[in-house]
Amino acid sequence: MDQVYKIYDRQASLKICIKDYFHEYSELIKSTMCYENDKQSEEKIFQLMGTDLSQSRILLMKHYCSIDNLTLPVEAAITEEREKLGYVNIPERILDNVSLETIKVLKMLSKEASVKPRNQNGIPIKYDKPKSIDNNLIKPYEEFLVYIRVYEPFKSQPRSLKYRTNIPTLKLKSVVSILGSQTFYELRQKIMCQSDLSITKEISENPNQRPESMAKDVYPSGFFYIEDTFYNDISIPTNVDYSNIILDWAAAHNIGPFEIATMDAPINSLYTKFGFPWVYQHQGCCEHLIVLTDARLVTVDDVLTQSAYPRIEKIRPVSGKNCIYCGIFNVHWIVTEHDRIPHDTSYFCNRCFRSYNYVDGKKVGNFKAYSYPCISQLMPIIRRPNKKS
Ligand SMILES: [Zn+2]
Ligand SMILES: [Zn+2]
Repeated sequence: MDQVYKIYDRQASLKICIKDYFHEYSELIKSTMCYENDKQSEEKIFQLMGTDLSQSRILLMKHYCSIDNLTLPVEAAITEEREKLGYVNIPERILDNVSLETIKVLKMLSKEASVKPRNQNGIPIKYDKPKSIDNNLIKPYEEFLVYIRVYEPFKSQPRSLKYRTNIPTLKLKSVVSILGSQTFYELRQKIMCQSDLSITKEISENPNQRPESMAKDVYPSGFFYIEDTFYNDISIPTNVDYSNIILDWAAAHNIGPFEIATMDAPINSLYTKFGFPWVYQHQGCCEHLIVLTDARLVTVDDVLTQSAYPRIEKIRPVSGKNCIYCGIFNVHWIVTEHDRIPHDTSYFCNRCFRSYNYVDGKKVGNFKAYSYPCISQLMPIIRRPNKKS
């Protein structure tokens, strides 16, 4: 298969076994960077600097270079006082009924701090965080992050552009960062696409009915294709194996061999090139190019909670389609087979849809209506469905 797409090799890296690469790198860093501040590490720093200083000069240098010199006395006093009281900052002007995980954690910390046991002098006894918060913490310099660019599917391009040039124009959809230990399945949950959010149920008789399911619930199959391997989504037993038909076609054309895996495979199992275009396919024929662009060790400056990843680092804003009648509001409805409209498919905002098609809540004429995902539905993070045990 590499022979077919050899042209892209010019921009791609050599094949890298990501897990081994970062394991070696992590060991190297641990042995040389000395990020734990102990006496041995100080000796190593001076060894690396190639200097042989006396103990007194080392102490003098430590004194001048200490980050404590950057702290004002008043700041130190405030911090000390806060620590004494076990004080936890809760952002102001946040309503009680807002369901934000961060606020819940902060409130829990604050509550526990307020009932924290104190010693005879009234000073709080050293406080351990609740276990639930410590769970799944990432150790810096041991885990790594991979950055993946996800592009818009080709079919979303304007037709005029498509016919003017034969080379499809790629548009970046989002950049996702994912931990090496996380799976393709978790990556999939962060790839948002309008075709997943289409609503398949015809509800012209009762437009107030809430749409029950979206295309992603009805057609959950999909795969990633990376380095001659199809990673199929088998999280639901009824999922269709999209790779089957491609493998049959490839066998008939003497292309291959290929391998098959599942989306439960972790990202760190990849032995692949960076900068090379791979494929994510879902909803039958919605194809996205994906490119692994970067990878690095997690450092102390990153969010060290496992649940924070995979994370959308960048996303292209979604521009909504406007109603073809008023031209002002965003589309909320797609109408087809309408006997009073000359087009087969029309896009309505909610206001025009109801004023043109209903009198006193009753449908006028014959047509089919489907709810159209609005911008707010297109932007949020897709929730992970229950996975097969
Ligand atoms: Zn798609
Ligand atoms: Zn309108």
